[in-house]
Amino acid sequence: MSLNLSSWTRPDQGALFVVSGASGTGKTTLLREALRHVPYLSFSVSATTRPARVGETEGVDYRFMDHTQFQKHVDAGDFLEYAQVYGNRYGTLRAPVLQALAQGVSVVLDIDIQGARQVRKSLPDGIGIFLAPTSIEVLEQRLRARGTEAEDTITLRMAQVQEQLNGSGDFEYVVVNDVLSCAHDCLQAVFVAELQRVHRRQSVVQGLTRLDG
Ligand code: 5GP
Repeated sequence: MSLNLSSWTRPDQGALFVVSGASGTGKTTLLREALRHVPYLSFSVSATTRPARVGETEGVDYRFMDHTQFQKHVDAGDFLEYAQVYGNRYGTLRAPVLQALAQGVSVVLDIDIQGARQVRKSLPDGIGIFLAPTSIEVLEQRLRARGTEAEDTITLRMAQVQEQLNGSGDFEYVVVNDVLSCAHDCLQAVFVAELQRVHRRQSVVQGLTRLDG
């Protein structure tokens, strides 16, 4: 499936996409691809106390900070949501998200299920997308193949996978990441369909109404 979005105009109002799924479901790769293809879609760079992995860039993958800096943002009420995930703290800064949405730029949050629940409470229009692995075994294999995690971290992450899977009912969409190209298409179809909704395209409708009248 090839989506031709070359004549796409900016929606009047951006959409907030909340994407969750266990680590190793290929979230990062899928999201990167979608961000390249879908216009007016941006990625929310989270703050984290986790140390940077090899190849990660400050301000692109995460805003890396120490616990004191993170806590300052918590105390100032800067976070739209924040959570402790696998022993580190992660949070979404509210201001850049709201600013993008107001400009018609949609925002993708790659956050865990605890964070997704918090966002659902404060911004109920957010669209939840759950990225599911084909199976638990495949998920564990992927996590090991990535080679970035120590053995005890892998064990911890696998122990929390079940909770993530149990929480999938909180989402609007589920995309199974089995064959990568297939998951890409499915995920992009969700983004594109949501951005065609009438309430985000009022200026298009109003323009046509004027012509008819
Ligand atoms: P990683 O350390 O592998 O980059 O991410 C670990 C987990 O933290 C992933 O499930 C990811 O979705 C989640 N995560 C990343 N950023 C945030 C955030 O801002 N808030 C929350 N709640 N979870 C996050």
